[in-house]
This record gives sequence, structure tokens and C-alpha cells, in this order.
Amino acid sequence: IFIGMVAGIIIGALLQFIFDDSGDLRFSIFSVEVSTYGILVEGIFSTLGQIFISSLKMLVVPLVFVSLICGTSSLSEPSKLGRLGAKSIGLYILTTAIAVTLAIMGGLLVSPGEGLNLQSETTYVAKEAPSLSQVIVDMFPSNPINSMAEGNMLQIIVFAVLLGVAMAMTGDAGKRLAAFFEDVNTVIMRLVTIIMNLAPYGVFVLMAKLFATIGLETIGGLLWYFFLVLAVLVIHALVTYPVLLKVFSGMNPLILLQKMRDAALFAFSTSSSSATLPVTMETARNKLGIGKSVSSFTLPLGATINMDGTAIMQGVATVFIAQVYGVDLSLGDYVMVVLTATLASVGTAGVPGVGLIMLAMVLQQVNLPVEGIALIIGVDRLLDMTRTAVNITGDCTVATIIAKSEGDLDEAVFNDPDAGHQQE
Ligand code: ASP
Repeated sequence: IFIGMVAGIIIGALLQFIFDDSGDLRFSIFSVEVSTYGILVEGIFSTLGQIFISSLKMLVVPLVFVSLICGTSSLSEPSKLGRLGAKSIGLYILTTAIAVTLAIMGGLLVSPGEGLNLQSETTYVAKEAPSLSQVIVDMFPSNPINSMAEGNMLQIIVFAVLLGVAMAMTGDAGKRLAAFFEDVNTVIMRLVTIIMNLAPYGVFVLMAKLFATIGLETIGGLLWYFFLVLAVLVIHALVTYPVLLKVFSGMNPLILLQKMRDAALFAFSTSSSSATLPVTMETARNKLGIGKSVSSFTLPLGATINMDGTAIMQGVATVFIAQVYGVDLSLGDYVMVVLTATLASVGTAGVPGVGLIMLAMVLQQVNLPVEGIALIIGVDRLLDMTRTAVNITGDCTVATIIAKSEGDLDEAVFNDPDAGHQQE
């Protein structure tokens, strides 16, 4: 997968170098037809990339639904469900709050927007943020088939959990149905493995398309902003998670980081926690040894509500925009930013670019101009990729901690460097 990614980046960058913006050759020494660019980038890379992402997304709804039913219906004690929920939500919020705090501290230390006079070329219209009560009401589906058709993850989670609990309480009929869903789950996981075998090629075409078309000249005055977000993302992934994992579970963080590599590369090339979910679950079960009941509940929830990387971008972006517009934020404002960015991360769907849309909510809370978002849009794609990799690493870290505390972590698998490889 790594080779696929690097090769994709190199080919994409080469194409960008050889052809100009209109797809014409920059150099006459290349005797390639001009249309080669179009055929390669728009034709082959783009088409294959879309097929790859669609095949991953195709698995998400069935996987979450079925594995969550299996996870909940097999719970021996019903109170475990409440405990899992409380622990997951508590830890997810904790890691996100730490992430925004780090981001704000980084922003104040580096001052990426100080003295910049940036003009936004586009205007940005914020979308209305829903109220908290609406968010909670919306979690309950009135039509579960519709929730699945729309891929509304929280509604699917609620429906699957209720169905699983009812199955556990129904005796024989529940057991028969559970056995059926177990079989479906096994087959879907097999499909995940099959698609993962294509990952190196999928990642290659996605990267080649992206790096052939991405415009890096927009970085200009955003250099400090860009590298600061990257730096905080790296610190959060390499310091915060390892410390939390060590303190709360005593497991070796280096093993976790190493085993997360493939899933993180997937997240990086798809920019979507949700599309990466099948891979995240496969990694959690087969490589990290996280049991079914924890992984099937904690990971889909995490892919939906736990977005530490996104919160980091939002923290740095808020400080940056305040500095560009010359607005002084008080300590109370920063506390507000931590609170709203944490909530915004809960409301951010795990698809590309949504973090930037939710940033509007954070900016509005502290009376910063929402048009500021237009300033940073140009460099968001690469940051989106990186923060998505951090988002799913956070999900797995929390899932490992919870699995350990619930006695649902197979430590032999976790510590085995080759675990999960025979499956691929
Ligand atoms: N792309 C991110 C994710 O799926 C969300 C975001 O930050 O836009 O995790």
C-alpha cells in the first residue's frame, strides 16, 4: 500500500510537471499525444479511483449494521452496553478536547496569521448549525431503511443496537436470527479482505489523480498555518495517543502505531473515516485483537463522532482567522472554541471536507467572520487527508483502551507482529 501511495504521488506530480493547466505539453521534447493527460488523469486514474472508493463505501452500511447486531446480541450482560457507550463517548470527548487545546496552544505560540493581509477571493456562506436537541432527536430513525439508504450512521447505530438487544431478549428466535447475522458478518468481512487486496492499486490511482491536479501554488501566505496544523496532528498522533494508551491500558503504543499503518494510509488516500471504516474494523479485529462487541460498537461510533484531527484543524484555523482579521480572543473565547470544536467534531460526518463546513459553527460562536474559511480552503485537501488518518488512529486507540478494560482484548494477537497478515 505504501509503495502504491508513493508511486501514485510521483506519477501524479510528474504529470503535473509535464502538462500545463489546460492539459497541453509544457515541453516539446516529449513526443506524447496531448490527450494522454486526459486519458490518464481524467479517464483511467479518476475512474478507477472512484470505483475503488465506491467499493469501500458499499461495505460501510451493511458492515456497521450487521456487526453491531452481532456485537449487541452476543453481549452477556445488558449493562455492558451502557458501560461501553459511556466509556466510548467519554474517551472520545476527552481526546478531542485535548486535541483542540493543543491546536489552540500551537496557534498562540506560532501565530500563523499575525501580520498577514489576505483577501478571500470567494465568499463563504455558512450553513445553519442544528440545535443540540435536534441532533439528539435526529439520532432516532423514523424509517430505518431510509437511514440506510442515506448512510445516516448514528441512526443505523441506534436501530442496530435496539434490534440486537431485542434479539438477545427473545430466546430461540433471537438466537436463530443472531446465527444468521453471524454468517452474514463473516461473509462481509471476507469481502473487506478481498477489497483490501486491491488497496495498493486503489491507493496508487487516487494519489496519482490527486497529485496531477492539486494546485499547490495557493499555499503562499498559508505556509505557517499549513505546517502548524500538520505539526499538531503529528504530535497528537505520536504523543497524546501513545501516552493515553500506556496510561489507561498499559499496552505498547509502538505496536498500535505500527499496526495502524495500512488503515492510516487508506484514510489518507480516501479522506474519509467512513469509507475507511471496513479497513479500520479489520485492523482492530485481526491485527489489534479487539473483541467483536467492543470493535463493532466503538469503531462505527468513532468514525462518526470522534474527529480529533478535524478538531485540531478547527482550533488552529480559529486562531489563524482571528489573527488575520486582527480580532483579540479572550480566555473565555478559547474555552468556547474548545467546547464548540469538540461538539462540531461530533457533528462532522466522516466524509471529505466536512470539517471545514463545521468550522463555520466554531467561528460563529466567537463572532469571527465565517468568510475566513475561504482563506484556508485552498490548502484543505492535503490537511483533510492527514487529519482523517489521525481521526481513525484515535478511534482505534480508544477502542483498544476500552477493550482492555472490558477484558475483550486478545493480547497475544495485539503483541503478535504478524497477526492479521495471513488474511490479506
Ligand atoms: N474527512 C474527515 C474524516 O472523514 C472529516 C473532515 O475533517 O472533514 O474523518
